[in-house]
Amino acid sequence: MGRYAPDFFKLGGADVFTKKIDHIGIAVKDASSKLSLYQGFLGLKDVHVEELVSRGIRVYMIKVGESKIELLEPMSEQSEISKFLEAKGEGIHHIAFSVEGIDQAVEFAKQNGLQPLSDAPKPGAGGAKVLFLHPKTTGGVLIELVEGSH
Ligand code: ZN
Repeated sequence: MGRYAPDFFKLGGADVFTKKIDHIGIAVKDASSKLSLYQGFLGLKDVHVEELVSRGIRVYMIKVGESKIELLEPMSEQSEISKFLEAKGEGIHHIAFSVEGIDQAVEFAKQNGLQPLSDAPKPGAGGAKVLFLHPKTTGGVLIELVEGSH
């Protein structure tokens, strides 16, 4: 089977490229009780903890080879993930793709019938810029675009 034409993978014309799955985001009420699963049972020892105060969340980035698992824990009732936890409980929250050219992605997404959840990328863990696309417009998956994470 042949490869898809390169254009198929472009988000924003020539300027935005998806490189890999950066991480899978998992909403948790209390991360400490889940770390034994990821660190103990699965043996994933490389965990980076960061508080994103403007978004009301504490993030546990757990390295899994080239990719990561991101545990999202609310820091308050008004956190970005509180509504999700209330409505759906703990579980997979989003899939994040590592991209180049995220600033162009907002307009391109709108032009293509996707609904960004913010008018510009927001601060993510590790100094990254992130942009979410509404699951209503992506086939039921909350997609996060990430640029510049380490
Ligand atoms: Zn994420």
